[in-house]
Amino acid sequence: MVGKKGKVQCIEDSILEKLSLKNRYKFLNTNLMSILKPEHFSFLRKSQKFFIRFEEKYNITHNEDFYDWIPEIGKEGLITRVHNFDDLGLNFEPFGMTAEFMRMLATDFFDPQLAMGMGATVLVINPIMLHHEDVDERLKALKEMVMGEKIGCLCITEPERGSDAVHMLTTCDEQDDGSYLINGVKIYQTNGSRADWAVIYAVAEKNNGNTMAQFLVDTSWEGWEAERLNIPWTPRMHVGKETFTNLKVPPEYVLGPTGQGRSHLFEGLNLERLGIVFLNVAEAWNALSHAVIYANMRKQFDQEILKFQGVGFPLSDQWAQTMSLTLATLHICQIIDDKLEKLGTLPKEFNLTLVATASQLKSQSAKLSERVCYECANLMGGAGACDNTLMHDLLGISRIQEMGGGTRQIQQYIMSLALRRLFKLL
Ligand SMILES: Cc1cc2nc3c(=O)[nH]c(=O)nc-3n(C[C@H](O)[C@H](O)[C@H](O)COP(=O)(O)OP(=O)(O)OC[C@H]3O[C@@H](n4cnc5c(N)ncnc54)[C@H](O)[C@@H]3O)c2cc1C
Repeated sequence: MVGKKGKVQCIEDSILEKLSLKNRYKFLNTNLMSILKPEHFSFLRKSQKFFIRFEEKYNITHNEDFYDWIPEIGKEGLITRVHNFDDLGLNFEPFGMTAEFMRMLATDFFDPQLAMGMGATVLVINPIMLHHEDVDERLKALKEMVMGEKIGCLCITEPERGSDAVHMLTTCDEQDDGSYLINGVKIYQTNGSRADWAVIYAVAEKNNGNTMAQFLVDTSWEGWEAERLNIPWTPRMHVGKETFTNLKVPPEYVLGPTGQGRSHLFEGLNLERLGIVFLNVAEAWNALSHAVIYANMRKQFDQEILKFQGVGFPLSDQWAQTMSLTLATLHICQIIDDKLEKLGTLPKEFNLTLVATASQLKSQSAKLSERVCYECANLMGGAGACDNTLMHDLLGISRIQEMGGGTRQIQQYIMSLALRRLFKLL
């Protein structure tokens, strides 16, 4: 039960019991049951049942090191559902973007920091999926991460190159035997200090994005060093700063040689941003589920506080915005799933349009998550600020969503470029 989370009990027993994971899932399901296709709704419920059992089995308080849970979640096939992974001899059903959205909803309600940490492993899985070329070493790493046996981190950002990611300073020097030596420093990698596998981008010539390459790296290799840095808003999630000193990458682990890294970096961005959208929408629903239950039970002036317009009306507003963004997200997921089913790949033109769509949804959902989580906590008064529920985790995590995966301003920049392109078509 969520109420076991806090050190000192602030919320009364009957409300804490109503705020159980099971009830919050029920609130979400009632909202989505008439919208979702049966296969997706049934997958959502199956994933939820797993997390309800998991929480009960281990008496989870959500103060634990969530990385210890990942192997069991992996065995259940809940690390990612973007692909069915038949290349690995697996056959996940259902799979695709809608299924991934469902997986994220179920995971986030259970534990938002776990959901974000697992999401970073997915960011490593996706590029290997595109570039494994049936090489045994890559397939092995892929399977280990998909099954939750190993953790992944994606290394793009550097101390001096954040938004300007293309002009990297981390270098890669190709050797005569086809291996590469990587030197440089990366920072803010989700899972960085816990990762077993990393996908690293580096350039043959500093500041020259055209010379970028992409590597898969085993973090136990000599030359990899990671420190855990502190992001106080997500205290249980590991975020790392990594130093590479003559880190030698054998040819089997080169996912994209010099010159191909930049296009590999960009090809993954739409998927990455949509993954962040799922996370943001899930955080908003999670906060709403808390506030709606709480406001229907908490009494002041002898009335349930939901009945005061000052509480019920703003809560309805947050609900309406979350539902609207959920419908938009489901729609784009459906379009992508349909195209992939019919064509096996996304047409180039569609992918280009998706760049603006992914930025629109990413920027709006990040803003939504931050607002909804804050408003819901605010409407719960002290119960929203104390540590008895997941609201505290939601408040912290929703504050960083505008930064990762390209900041708010970078999304606005991408969208304004698209507006210029649209104008030129007139
Ligand atoms: C919790 C967390 C997890 C992360 N996980 C990962 C990860 O897994 N892998 C990874 O590689 N990175 C990760 N990042 C890094 C993240 O992608 C970067 O923080 C982000 O790209 C911004 O880079 P920066 O922090 O250097 O900020 P800067 O680029 O220095 O930006 C500072 C400010 O300037 C603004 N700005 C910069 N350029 C422009 C411009 N041209 N026009 C207008 N405004 C501009 C930015 O929007 C921002 O507001 C993570 C970050 C956080 C906080």
